[in-house]
Amino acid sequence: MSYERDAIARMSGYTPGEQPARTVIAKLNTNENPYPPCAAVMDALRGIDGHALRRYPSAMADGFRAEAARLHGLTPDHIIATNGGDELLRLAITTFLEPGGPLGIAEPGYSLYPVLAAVNDSPLVRVPLADDWSTPDGIADRWNAAGARLAMLVNPHAPSGRLTPAAEIAAIARAFDGVLLLDEAYVDFIDPARGYDSIPLVRDLPNVLLLRTMSKGYSLAGLRYAYGIGAPDLVAPMLTKSKDSYNVDAVAQVLATASLKHRDEAARTWAAVRVERERLRAALVERGFDAPPSETNFLLAAVPGGNARAVYRALADSGIYVRWFDQDRLRDKLRISIGTPEENDALLAALDAIK
Ligand SMILES: *Cc1c(COP(=O)(O)O)cnc(C)c1O
Repeated sequence: MSYERDAIARMSGYTPGEQPARTVIAKLNTNENPYPPCAAVMDALRGIDGHALRRYPSAMADGFRAEAARLHGLTPDHIIATNGGDELLRLAITTFLEPGGPLGIAEPGYSLYPVLAAVNDSPLVRVPLADDWSTPDGIADRWNAAGARLAMLVNPHAPSGRLTPAAEIAAIARAFDGVLLLDEAYVDFIDPARGYDSIPLVRDLPNVLLLRTMSKGYSLAGLRYAYGIGAPDLVAPMLTKSKDSYNVDAVAQVLATASLKHRDEAARTWAAVRVERERLRAALVERGFDAPPSETNFLLAAVPGGNARAVYRALADSGIYVRWFDQDRLRDKLRISIGTPEENDALLAALDAIK
């Protein structure tokens, strides 16, 4: 017999990208930053003493929140630190959605949203994205009509890399009768020339919660650290009631704070990724892939001939890992994280060797 709740027994879990144990030539399947965290972060790690581990950490990560607030020109009561972005997503559900209450999403999107909804016994209000992956008009009305009190959108979009302007997001949030969680996991890779700035949304709107993570831009996926940004009234219930008491550990708080302090160094990796992103995109297009522009650290590329799964397998056989999704609208495509120049060259060489 099983002791699981019905909702848990019914659901399937999240499928993480492979983390191959053997050394691979290029691991371009889970959108990690190809460059290591900056020297100041590694120095901070070496500087941690035993007493910092003996004591409980700051329950609300006060030092980190002060640093993040300074960076964004806000007060610390706009910030909540979490154990990865995934914890913020889960917290938003437990705080803003009744058990069983519907969750608004756009499809395709981040594959964790349906998993977290299932844990909460929440049906999904799925709105398909347009052919160019843009958000369709009236998306908030569709969520409202189904009674969704929380919705999740990823911007820049995963897995396409497309950026929705902040003004369009603001219009969706204004029309929506619930909390809009804007998942900005890849915000750091946006070309600064695009002028994207979502912080004003948080100042102007009571129902926008931004997700920022240290995993991608700051090369700290292994650390598990992210933060939410929202109006103080939106952040307070999560911060003071629904989160775990010590949800981010002492080591993570120190390293994440150092990382934000030395943001300029991470920003150099973002610029390098953008250069490679354009180079790789041009090289893929030259080889017959349909690879639209991306504002993230990955490309979504339709494989010439459409047999993306076979190409994915052939690449894995030659030690190059990319991501293939067995999902409508994605089966003919590969999601390729931007690697170092050497890794991207290895990918291109492997592609040229196939067929
Ligand atoms: C990586 C990612 C996150 C958060 O990841 P964490 O490592 O848990 O911070 C959130 N949303 C999307 C779309 C992502 O790709």
